[in-house]
Amino acid sequence: MAEIVIKKVAKSFGGFHALHSIDLTIADQEFMVLLGASGCGKTTLLRIIAGLETPSQGEVWIGGRRVDGLPPRERGIAMVFQNYAVFPHLTVFENIAFGLRMKKLPRQEIERRVTRTAELMHIEQLLKRYSGQLSGGQRQRVAVARALAMEPDVILMDEPLSNLDALLRLEMRAELKGVLAASKTTTIYVTHDQVEAMSLADRISVMNAGKIVQAARPVEVYRNPAARFVGSFIGNPPMNFIPAKRAGDGKWQVAGVALDGPQASRDRLEFAIRPEDVTVGAEGIPATVRVVEPLGVHTLLTCEVEGALFRAVVESDLAVTPGDTLRLAPKPDRVRWFDPESGMAV
Ligand code: ATP
Repeated sequence: MAEIVIKKVAKSFGGFHALHSIDLTIADQEFMVLLGASGCGKTTLLRIIAGLETPSQGEVWIGGRRVDGLPPRERGIAMVFQNYAVFPHLTVFENIAFGLRMKKLPRQEIERRVTRTAELMHIEQLLKRYSGQLSGGQRQRVAVARALAMEPDVILMDEPLSNLDALLRLEMRAELKGVLAASKTTTIYVTHDQVEAMSLADRISVMNAGKIVQAARPVEVYRNPAARFVGSFIGNPPMNFIPAKRAGDGKWQVAGVALDGPQASRDRLEFAIRPEDVTVGAEGIPATVRVVEPLGVHTLLTCEVEGALFRAVVESDLAVTPGDTLRLAPKPDRVRWFDPESGMAV
């Protein structure tokens, strides 16, 4: 069992607060992705869990043991980082065996583990090669195999695919998901790539400015963002937002159209809808089309609504040209509302 519990962890570098009181529980065998823009604190949090950084405050528990006072090697973790330090002067076999030899495991056990993890990562035919003679993708696999060979309770990965080209990233992503699920480890994976996060994670923790804004299943994060930040950070193109005014009778005025909305103490809210959640018809929000991008499977429209950009995904056979005015009706069950001051969902 390797549940990870992070309690009120904060980190300051001099006067700069990189992490503000983080609380997060990662279940045994869960695949948790830390997602956020550059500088939001993902790597710092991962390094604190790993023991490479000391928290200014708070506790880290792994498998029911408090570990924040322990050195990395006593935490039952393995790590794969972006600059996956694979030793070029060692063979693939020796690279994977490296940590196992440090642990002084018996020769037969080392052979068993190296062979097994090399097979898992499809590099068994490369075991005798020097790592300096491998492609980036192959080196990446060696780094993951080396981590898995330790049979750790927890694997921590920091942007492990970021050095690969797009196609290889896609391939490795699918492979990693399968391999990690089979190995029954608890995984924490840092990325700023939302597609990677959505496709890999059991749950995503969306981070912003040293805080976790939302920790939930990918579909939940996408459909029900807890904050405006999450709606605008996740999704490409992101969610659309329009200022809304109370119009009485439980209605809200959105770009001149009265829509059903929530009970709220405020007179102003922000209406939000994803680009694929509008339908073109006789009724709805008036939008002037500025750019038409046929993408094959659908067409992306960039429109203007009350002076702001509004994106809509429409059927590819819709006849539309820049300058046209359309009516975009939001699907009622997909409309979300945010408090304009706190940015939180209403
Ligand atoms: P990236 O995706 O760019 O790696 P990140 O979300 O992982 O970003 P961190 O590396 O955790 O971000 O850094 C969080 C903040 O803390 C940044 O503003 C960074 O400049 C700062 N920071 C990180 N390490 C140190 C350090 N040793 N000394 C001072 N500031 C630091």
